[in-house]
Amino acid sequence: MSASGDRRAELAAGLADTERRIVDACASAGRSRDEITLVVVTKTYPASDVDILAELGVVDVGENRHPEAGDKAHDVEASLRWHFLGGLQTNKAGAVARYADLVHSVDRVKLVNSLSRGAEAAGRTLTCLVQVDFDATDPGRAGVVPDAIGPVADAIADAPGLVLGGLMTVAPLGDDPRPHFDHLVRLSGELRRDHPGATIVSAGMSGDLEAAVAAGATHLRVGRSVLGERASTR
Ligand SMILES: *Cc1c(COP(=O)(O)O)cnc(C)c1O
Repeated sequence: MSASGDRRAELAAGLADTERRIVDACASAGRSRDEITLVVVTKTYPASDVDILAELGVVDVGENRHPEAGDKAHDVEASLRWHFLGGLQTNKAGAVARYADLVHSVDRVKLVNSLSRGAEAAGRTLTCLVQVDFDATDPGRAGVVPDAIGPVADAIADAPGLVLGGLMTVAPLGDDPRPHFDHLVRLSGELRRDHPGATIVSAGMSGDLEAAVAAGATHLRVGRSVLGERASTR
């Protein structure tokens, strides 16, 4: 088999394994598979992998760095939804707004304003999630503390070119993820009292997607379980 045929077989197997995990988790939780969007996180992997994933039926892909994300979005011909998941400097927000469809990592009003200007300039609509951080022990982590969701969410909802999609979190390393995911789902319920359209709950990665499905996540961001271990640690 050719090298690209080998890679296609690997990705098909990774996708099938991941899909089986999601279906099993839905069955255990009494949820329907249609409630869940799988975002395949392709960071560090080449655009050729994204091409193969698109052929295999993947619609949503995630990236965490600019310009790597923009280069891939440019190189891949298939029409996909591009999810931006990473820390974002305000001076790069305009560029990201040109190719991203969803930004999961919005954690300050200044970034909201930059994304809004970028979306307007590009004539695009960008769905934004507020990233929530539950790790009080590490102030360097991305995300807002639960009490600070309101102002960022309101700013997104009021910003031209932006739509408030909901909430996102990354479970603190080493913790049992389940209480954090349950907490995020409770916060989502509170957010929807003011913003009924903000239904997205983005939680769960390769290591903890079952816990996220059980808690009520709508979007899973899965990299390694589909593509294999990354060479770098991010
Ligand atoms: C890399 C990354 C993921 C995917 O992680 P895996 O362990 O490869 O599934 C999910 N979310 C964010 C924010 C990431 O940076």
